[in-house]
Amino acid sequence: MRINALPSGNGFSFEINHAPENSLARAGTISTPHGDVATPAFIPVGTKATVKSVLPETMKELGAQALLANAYHLYLQPGSDILDEAGGLSRFMNWPGPTFTDSGGFQVLSLGVGFKKVLAMDAQTFRSDEVVAGNKERLAHVDDDGVTFKSHIDGSMHRFTPEVSMRVQHQIGADIIFAFDECTTLHNTRKYQEKALERTRAWGIRCLDEHQKLTLERSEKPYQALYGVIQGAQYEDLRKKAATDMAALRSSDPENPIAFDGFGLGGALDKKTLGTILTWMNEILPEEKPRHLLGIGAPEDLFVGVDNGIDTFDCVLASRIARTSAVYTMEGRFNLSNAAYRRAFEPIDSECDCYTCTHYTKAYVHHLFRGKEINAATLATIHNERFIVRLVDQMRAALIAGDYPELKAEFMGRYKHLSGQARD
Ligand SMILES: [Zn+2]
Repeated sequence: MRINALPSGNGFSFEINHAPENSLARAGTISTPHGDVATPAFIPVGTKATVKSVLPETMKELGAQALLANAYHLYLQPGSDILDEAGGLSRFMNWPGPTFTDSGGFQVLSLGVGFKKVLAMDAQTFRSDEVVAGNKERLAHVDDDGVTFKSHIDGSMHRFTPEVSMRVQHQIGADIIFAFDECTTLHNTRKYQEKALERTRAWGIRCLDEHQKLTLERSEKPYQALYGVIQGAQYEDLRKKAATDMAALRSSDPENPIAFDGFGLGGALDKKTLGTILTWMNEILPEEKPRHLLGIGAPEDLFVGVDNGIDTFDCVLASRIARTSAVYTMEGRFNLSNAAYRRAFEPIDSECDCYTCTHYTKAYVHHLFRGKEINAATLATIHNERFIVRLVDQMRAALIAGDYPELKAEFMGRYKHLSGQARD
């Protein structure tokens, strides 16, 4: 067992508590000014400072340790200055625990360049011209300095640069923030991937510089940890180069060059090669810093992530599919709207301890979905978020107890796999 600790002193630290031999998997603790996160952990997504249809109090009750909101959405509405005036994201949304914000890089590009909502999964299922819209339809244009994009709300023009993303994320005030990066698809050319990677590296230095400046300027605020983002699509040499470069990156202050506090693993990831690609990066990234896998959260993918050294995950999938009546169980995913459940007077999952499963039946939730009642989304979201949060909690407990391989074998034996990767 290895015990590593990232030195604290600013309210942020990471400690590895358990790590099985000959594995990248580990269980640890991330400490933030708003509390601790026991890892591995699933971080539910509240894109606009709310988990759709569920109150923060309920998220706490179902075991969520932290929430992730999005800088792009909060910048456009209500405006990051409003969150700053409110005392930061945590106070604004009545969530006293730790928070994360995504940099906005993925959103300005995915909403703007015309990516499909779901970025990766099986690359064979759609043609490249369906993934990236033609120039005329694009709502975003990337250059070496930043991204100019059109708001998806009112069509107004905006510009995000590394400095803007840092300022916006400092105003929002989450405990863990991400560097501004250029997210590509699996279908961009190799040449473009190289260019985007170099741009993300250059933007990384600008993020560190601006973050350092803002941290000093706003020294009365709780410390925010900055994670660098590793891209490189499906290319082994690019992923390894990105991990090496981002781990070595420092701000340009000669007196006090700061490094990233942790890393976000992002970009286009094909489901079939997810584990291999994570290994390329995590064998290089410094062991003592936390690693977050961006936008991946289908149950079977969470095991692949934990196996390959991921500490935290976020994904909108659990709540998004819940609103379409799809729910997770230990046997796989099924759809509550199906007529088969009209008289199913039993819980969604008899093994689940969530509020929905301990108080309501499939037949009732089926009825709410059929009647287009708002509470249908609430009850299904509570179940799905609990299912995912608990599954990762079970992985952590199994890592500590030493029976993780048994947990994984049991789960994989029962669960029917479906694809899923999604960011909002
Ligand atoms: Zn449940």
